[in-house]
Amino acid sequence: MTAPCRILILGGTGEASELARALTVRFGAAVQVTSSQAGRTREPRAPAGALRIGGFGGAVGLAAYLTGQDIDLVIDATHPFASAISANARAACNSTGCRRLILARPPWQQRPGDDWHHAANATAAAALVAQMGPRVFMTVGRKDLSAFSGLSAHWFLVRLIDRPVQTLPLPRHQILIGRGPFTLATERALLRHHEIDVLVTKASGGSATEAKLLAAREANLPVIMLQRPLSETGEQVDCLAAALTWVSHAFELQAPL
Ligand code: NAP
Repeated sequence: MTAPCRILILGGTGEASELARALTVRFGAAVQVTSSQAGRTREPRAPAGALRIGGFGGAVGLAAYLTGQDIDLVIDATHPFASAISANARAACNSTGCRRLILARPPWQQRPGDDWHHAANATAAAALVAQMGPRVFMTVGRKDLSAFSGLSAHWFLVRLIDRPVQTLPLPRHQILIGRGPFTLATERALLRHHEIDVLVTKASGGSATEAKLLAAREANLPVIMLQRPLSETGEQVDCLAAALTWVSHAFELQAPL
């Protein structure tokens, strides 16, 4: 019997959890899957296989982990805005010779009726919000909020996965705790209930958080869309099925009988 293919999934996304499950179901004992999460959420969803939590200590730390754990393949299934860990994965795989695949969900596509305003970064997004109605629905996470701190004429509904420990750097706001997937009905009701004038989001892509865009389109609301950072170079797929096919070809794995 040959040794199992040891796979490290860099995660923190719904796709990463689905991938861990799909690899285990599809290839059984032919793979050994470990998922890695940064540890940002207080109650992470446990994926199939092993789970490790916390940073590696940069590219050098990740390279040491890959060597120490005899990892054959890194699948970078992190969020499209998590650029530091993806850069570390590229560097660590280059230095160790470990194979690497990027699983990156496609960005959302603008459709007729959408009123999207693209912003290169949070500062540019704040400048756009300043010209819009006063009630803002923020779905960009915690890290980028300080760019909006000068907008004292605005009120912010801030949706986060976990209740923040520190006060948010926004003058007037309400926190809404919630984790996707969200439905069109709930997003529609939320926009109406809070009388939202403008939605601010990252160009994250994926179905779990897309309903807010449909609700904004229905309500003719403008959307400020933070553009993605450039993705890392390397072999890339955009869906789970393609990732499974890639792994099966790269390591000559068959589904168990
Ligand atoms: P980041 O800026 O790319 O990473 C910052 C540091 O966090 C990395 O250098 C690494 O620390 C550690 N890290 C990040 N992801 C890790 C992982 N999967 N496993 C182990 N360590 C990890 O990432 P971020 O934007 O803060 O996002 C953190 C995590 O949340 C990511 O895993 C991402 O998939 C998920 N997430 C991010 C967003 C977003 O909008 N950014 C949204 C949803 C989910 P060391 O250098 O010490 O290794």
